[in-house]
Amino acid sequence: MASKPLCLVERPVPEPGPGELQVRVICCGVCRTDLHLAKGDLPPRARDITPGHEVVGEVVTTGPGATRFRPGDRVGVAWLGGTDGTCRYCRRGAENLCPASVYTGWDRHGGYAEYLTAADAFVHPLPGGFSDAELAPLLCAGIIGYRALRRAQVPPGGTLGIWGFGGSAHLAAQIAMGQGAEVHVFTRAPAAQDLALSLGVASAQDSFDPAPVPLDSAIIFAPVGDVVPAAVAALDRGGTCAIAGIYLTDIPSLNYDKHLFQERNLCSVTSNTRGDAAEFLTLAQRLAIKVTTTPYPFEQADKALADLAGDRIHGAGVLQLKTVGPDG
Ligand SMILES: [Zn+2]
Ligand SMILES: [Zn+2]
Repeated sequence: MASKPLCLVERPVPEPGPGELQVRVICCGVCRTDLHLAKGDLPPRARDITPGHEVVGEVVTTGPGATRFRPGDRVGVAWLGGTDGTCRYCRRGAENLCPASVYTGWDRHGGYAEYLTAADAFVHPLPGGFSDAELAPLLCAGIIGYRALRRAQVPPGGTLGIWGFGGSAHLAAQIAMGQGAEVHVFTRAPAAQDLALSLGVASAQDSFDPAPVPLDSAIIFAPVGDVVPAAVAALDRGGTCAIAGIYLTDIPSLNYDKHLFQERNLCSVTSNTRGDAAEFLTLAQRLAIKVTTTPYPFEQADKALADLAGDRIHGAGVLQLKTVGPDG
């Protein structure tokens, strides 16, 4: 991040094509995936793409055939920006695995901008009860955390361990607790441990400390392969560990008896479906989850990413846009 990979440029306001909306950005969350893209951990899919995929904005104009929203509607634009709708994965309801999927801020210009366009069919209506800044991290951190929680298959009243406690984890932990799980947090950052305890988790300790109880489920949010053996070793018989990130450093070798035997499961989490998003946004409102954000002025996007890299953000970072719109 020392090379300051972001640069501020002027571009024409994008016009919506068929089936698209033109959205004025109100704020945009800062996600770890933006950091992986800026650092080159994830290869770029197109040149000079504007990052940002936790976009809260207002519909300005609608393109031909875009009928779900009207000008003035407040909407969310998230990571999954489009799929073909026809491949074998889309046909079985697994659109998160679509090989032709496109992503906001990776294939399409994202929300570190005053305006963007987005496919009407992939834009989300937003729940009430949250400020604009609180809604932003729900749109990726929240949705992907929810999919990870589903993949981790926590049984009713079960125990869940969470490795890493940033934007995504602090939301997933609250959903899990709202559904009756006992949550234990493993992170090296004292501030993150404090946040976890303030939200009501049963315990918070260092990433490599032993789990206080056998875990039915685990979710790894830290992009650190070194914690995988610790997480699977902490699983009870039949337990499941889900790796939530799009990027993970190499996993050290596992010992079959110590880490996997007794039907323990280790799985990844890839993107999300629109169904995951709708379900999560409904539950976030119903369970009144608390969203912790740290605001950054738009011009300080580089600082926000550097702070994220250095674990210096409390909760989720959110870029605030100040645009007053084309009419002044
Ligand atoms: Zn598909
Ligand atoms: Zn994200």
